[in-house]
Amino acid sequence: MSAARADTRDPGAPACDEAWFAARASRAVQGLRAYDPGHDLVALRRRFGEADLVELGSNENPYGPSPAARAAILDQLHALHRYPDPLGADLKRALAARHGVDPGQLLLGNGSHELLMQLAQAFAGPGEEVVFSRYGFAVFALAAQAAGAAPRVAEALPREHAAMPLGHDLDAIAAAIGPRTKLVYLANPNNPTGTWFGRAAFAAFMARVPAETLVVMDEAYAELADPAADVASALPLLPRYPNLALTRTFSKAYGLAGLRVGYLVGVPGLVAVMERLRESFNVNAPALAACEAALGDAGHLRWVSGRNAEQRRALAEALAARGLRVYPSQTNFVLAEFGPRTARIEAALVARGVVLRPMGGYGLPECLRITVGSADENRRLLAALDEVLAETGAGIP
Ligand SMILES: *Cc1c(COP(=O)(O)O)cnc(C)c1O
Repeated sequence: MSAARADTRDPGAPACDEAWFAARASRAVQGLRAYDPGHDLVALRRRFGEADLVELGSNENPYGPSPAARAAILDQLHALHRYPDPLGADLKRALAARHGVDPGQLLLGNGSHELLMQLAQAFAGPGEEVVFSRYGFAVFALAAQAAGAAPRVAEALPREHAAMPLGHDLDAIAAAIGPRTKLVYLANPNNPTGTWFGRAAFAAFMARVPAETLVVMDEAYAELADPAADVASALPLLPRYPNLALTRTFSKAYGLAGLRVGYLVGVPGLVAVMERLRESFNVNAPALAACEAALGDAGHLRWVSGRNAEQRRALAEALAARGLRVYPSQTNFVLAEFGPRTARIEAALVARGVVLRPMGGYGLPECLRITVGSADENRRLLAALDEVLAETGAGIP
């Protein structure tokens, strides 16, 4: 509130600032902090020009969506005065066919972020616990706290681990499950580490989880994993474990982050309870149509996934050739270590119009998360990085 406005108030009135309202918020909300978008991308786009800014901070798809998705959106423009289908029936039918499940097993969300939040809201609360891995996706902790539940963090595999440093330690996660654990979040592959676990390890994990504990697998990057890599999905185990569900998104491989659509697959009973919390028109009409069209274009998805795999390999090699440690990834980003100069390097890159994601919030202040861009974007990133590394001095680990 501006000082001028405040001056017109009754001098005896309370300040009504953030602290005043926070004191009146629920206990859960008192413990939360608002989303930190990192950089002001709108301001950076204005400063550098959209074409000259290299945006590699948010794991977006540099190739964009299927042309069929764009056409489907244009096709919706005559009906913007109408509410969308509150059931999203056409998109659910297409998703059900795609995954070999019943439409009643599907729940649509305004991004999978919304679904992850609502899962905790529905199934965990004060006096209860939500388990997830250290370096697990940031929304897991947020969802637990917003629901008033206690986050319980299982240690990740160590940085020195030969195969999957900083990855989920499924044994540690299983061991962290206690009598008050209502919900377990896994991400496979995980953001921000890029790490993953395999099918046999996941099957053994599920066999250890009590039937009363809900396990949610965030599979935001599933479509971007190499087909030959052993990356577990929850899908094949759904018939066996009613306490298992998965979330996916149209934001990454489908290139539709701006539309905000994600979905959950689980047993119909779970979906029915989640439906009680869902806002009736949470997915808008152009988004529903675009996602249905995007699902129909398997060729575009394969093309994106192939280009991403090729660029991911090239980028990881180029970073390693500069002496940086790069973590294994089956996603559209890589986590890399830049050592004690990380913050300076990151700031110098932004000054050159290259935006990466700092990892201090994850407790990894010497790492940056780098989205795998197009060949051209990656070339511009590496050119800027070479300048910055030369400038900030030798001795990068
Ligand atoms: C990007 C991402 C999501 C997707 O979020 P949306 O809300 O669907 O855009 C979910 N989980 C993880 C781990 C992600 O990295």
